[in-house]
Amino acid sequence: MAKKEVSLEDIPGVGEKTIEKLKSIGYSDPMVIAVSSPTELANIAEIGEPTAAKIINTVREKLDIGYVTADKILERRTVVAKITTGSKALDTLLGGGIETQAITEAYGQYGSGKSQLAFQLAVSVQLPKDKGGLDGACLFIDTENTFRPERIVQIAKAMKLDPEKVLRNIYVARAFNTEHQILLVEKAPEIIEEKKIKLVIVDSLTSHFRSDFMGRGELAGRQQKLNRHLHQLLRLADAYNLCVYITNQVMSDPAMLFGDPTRPVGGNIVGHMSTYRLYLRRGREGTRICKVIDAPNIQEGEAAFRITENGLADIQEK
Ligand code: ADP
Ligand code: MG
Repeated sequence: MAKKEVSLEDIPGVGEKTIEKLKSIGYSDPMVIAVSSPTELANIAEIGEPTAAKIINTVREKLDIGYVTADKILERRTVVAKITTGSKALDTLLGGGIETQAITEAYGQYGSGKSQLAFQLAVSVQLPKDKGGLDGACLFIDTENTFRPERIVQIAKAMKLDPEKVLRNIYVARAFNTEHQILLVEKAPEIIEEKKIKLVIVDSLTSHFRSDFMGRGELAGRQQKLNRHLHQLLRLADAYNLCVYITNQVMSDPAMLFGDPTRPVGGNIVGHMSTYRLYLRRGREGTRICKVIDAPNIQEGEAAFRITENGLADIQEK
């Protein structure tokens, strides 16, 4: 399902200035333009509505956004591969591990193990394919300054890998704010191709969005940006057959009278864009429980695991 590559520069009648403007507001991906409305695009790019309509129509014509037959989709899915989480119980729950061509989101309270799973995956992805890895490298976008190379070394040693080599295969960027985070993903294709990246981590997806858009009136703008950011992540997953793992903070929903009041941040948009949605929480005696909340092809259920010195492990393992 090779998508036809269309760049903004290919659109007749669109000047350099408009292109610059579109790029600066994150509309560098023609697909984003193809799915906008003329009014929306006109407002955002500060161009006339007829021009906006012309741009959108041209992009739509150039892009393949029609139907494909199911056999083509199946063909594409035959290259889907998985990364082991280090816990057999968790792998079984996930149908083998976390998947390429998909976004896997883990949300949960502080300390529930979201970042620990990220570290584990950053090492596991480097394993050969017959050992549950993808023989690839990792891109790690750290927004909370919680990336710990020492922890990577511990996990790598436990897996009998050369820790130096493992560290050199993890490309870490500290994102300072929302714009920076978005830019890091936009610029990712270059390094993905060059370094054989098979896992992109954003830990966490939402912390900057939360603090950069505090006011009530900013919610719509925040969601629009978040949506675009997630689309770009999913596009990377698709285009390069890689895994995207994102973590998400939670908030308490005071309107919930019964049940668990923990809600992931980001509302419907994050839920809608995540292919697999996992809820992590603390269980008894320091264990962790992972619950599948939303998934297209695996059963909803739970698995328990532990976080150990050596990384993620099954309950009975020491
Ligand atoms: P969050 O969901 O906030 O990202 P983390 O993934 O950082 O949470 O999980 C932190 C927890 O992981 C700690 O509270 C601790 O229980 C566990 N942990 C971290 N490092 C180790 C280690 N070396 N050995 C055992 N447990 C660890
Ligand atoms: Mg964390």
